[in-house]
Amino acid sequence: MRIDLHTHSNASDGTQDPRVVIQLAADTGLHVIGLTDHDSAAGWVEASAAALEVGIRLVPGMEISTIHQHAGVHVLAYLPDPTYPPLMAELGLILDGRNGRLAAMLAQLRAAGLDIREAEVRAQVGAAPAIGRPHIADVLVAKGYVADRNQAFAEWLNWGRPGYVSRYAADTRRMVQIVTAAGGAAVIAHPWGRGSRRVLDHETLASLQSDGLVGIEVDHQDHARDDRDALRAIARDLDLVATGASDFHGAGKVDHELGCNLTDPGQFERLLAAAADNASSAGLNVTAVVGS
Ligand code: AMP
Ligand code: ZN
Ligand code: FE
Ligand code: FE
Repeated sequence: MRIDLHTHSNASDGTQDPRVVIQLAADTGLHVIGLTDHDSAAGWVEASAAALEVGIRLVPGMEISTIHQHAGVHVLAYLPDPTYPPLMAELGLILDGRNGRLAAMLAQLRAAGLDIREAEVRAQVGAAPAIGRPHIADVLVAKGYVADRNQAFAEWLNWGRPGYVSRYAADTRRMVQIVTAAGGAAVIAHPWGRGSRRVLDHETLASLQSDGLVGIEVDHQDHARDDRDALRAIARDLDLVATGASDFHGAGKVDHELGCNLTDPGQFERLLAAAADNASSAGLNVTAVVGS
């Protein structure tokens, strides 16, 4: 069983329609795919229809922007009820923050000499509710200022560069609690990823586990071999689920091809069991895996 639990479509900053991501997943020989767009469930309906059509199992999810001790932490939420009011409220704040910082980022970029307008970015974003720096990066590429998204981040968009503006992110601990109360399973994405300040040590993860944390993403392109080994040991020690995934973004992220990292089927079963437990305690609308 080939299971990839972390992918993006153009419902956030991936480059393909959810339907296309699902089709590609099936073509690549995946049996289970998690669609985890940033801060939004907007791709779920289209992805669900596609999953039934092409005969692949879809785990509806999202990747939520949070902050712990001033460091950005991405929380993967699998199978939460997206209508749970506290979850909707936090996602609303995050999306408003994404929207709100756009004008400021563009003003700073213009002050630094780049000609870039809000309408150009809006065209790039399309219908996606989550406006991200990758969309601005794509405009900079299209206008010839940089060669690719990587260069756009390195020169203009990363923290400390001329276009950087911070935005609202939810508190990590509170978000883990909310996802759990929404009947979902919370997993920390790329805990020791690029740019993270490595605030997520053994002790912190143990503490988040008491708030409901179910797992950590161990096999991710941002993690070198020795980090994967260390994270797997922590997961084993704490009895956290260890996942693996591509963090596919279509053409938006190189070296993140679908299926490049996979989740062990036994770990996946534990993840589903945890979500089912949380859903039965929550008594909300249950979000189910789509397809068989
Ligand atoms: P934002 O959500 O607007 O803060 O932008 C962060 C997102 O940009 C991350 O979740 C990645 O998907 C993407 N990203 C970050 N660094 C890069 C990079 N060097 N190249 C391409 N995409 C990136
Ligand atoms: Zn992204
Ligand atoms: Fe992430
Ligand atoms: Fe991601």
